[in-house]
Amino acid sequence: VPGHQVTGEVVETGTAVDRLKPGARVGVGWIFAACGTCPYCRSGRENLCPEFKATGRDAHGGYAEYLAVDEDFALPLPDNVNPVQAAPLLCAGAVGYRAFRQSGIGEHDVLGLSGFGASAQLLLKTAVRRFPDLSLYVFARNPAAREYARSLGAAWTGDFHDTPPALCNAIIDTTPVWKPIVDLLPRLSPGGRFVINAIRKTNADKNALSSLSYEHHLWMEKSVTSVANVTRSDITQFLELAASSGVVPELTTYSLSEANQALLAVHQGGLQEAQVLVV
Ligand SMILES: [Zn+2]
Ligand SMILES: [Zn+2]
Repeated sequence: VPGHQVTGEVVETGTAVDRLKPGARVGVGWIFAACGTCPYCRSGRENLCPEFKATGRDAHGGYAEYLAVDEDFALPLPDNVNPVQAAPLLCAGAVGYRAFRQSGIGEHDVLGLSGFGASAQLLLKTAVRRFPDLSLYVFARNPAAREYARSLGAAWTGDFHDTPPALCNAIIDTTPVWKPIVDLLPRLSPGGRFVINAIRKTNADKNALSSLSYEHHLWMEKSVTSVANVTRSDITQFLELAASSGVVPELTTYSLSEANQALLAVHQGGLQEAQVLVV
């Protein structure tokens, strides 16, 4: 059963469960389980655990009436959060937030966003409200996406080859292609981090990388890193951040029997809307 952004109410608990009571409102994100004992788990990087289990991939997910999960991975929802609105925050939002943490960005810095899909949009919405002194630059090919970014509070928007008014302290890349690395590494300030928040990169434009120059792209301690999976603290921190800054995703709800319609809507790709099954 797929579905890795799940919210609901506890209806029944096992005998060893002591923290959660029936009626508790919880969310289950992409992280379904991790071992808890390996060096990664013990250093707060359970997203890298070799035993990492993903909801809807390694275990049944949320397109169902009920879901069984270890209580440690059923994360309490903040009181002021509506469970329907919280669901779309659990993956795209939480992974975007992980990228934000990985970027090492400070509250008065310039953060660049390369690509402006769902994850980047949630990140921008949250960041502009929560960190008003942060300057956000959005690089996107699509003029409509750039306009949307400006309406949400981006300080500057442009195409990948455009020159922003200042260097970025970090850039979060959510595109599936390589060209942004070539175009945007020169836009990083010394010591800046380029964080790739994408599950995979296409091979189609891999040749673009041959134009990388050590001097222009990496010199001065610039680094390139990726984001994989999420930790529970990414999810809970992002939910709290979203709740306290009033971020709610735009969404359409469907009943479980309308699931195929919902999947079709995702496939046809409205840029800005999440589709939520309400069971
Ligand atoms: Zn582990
Ligand atoms: Zn996801």
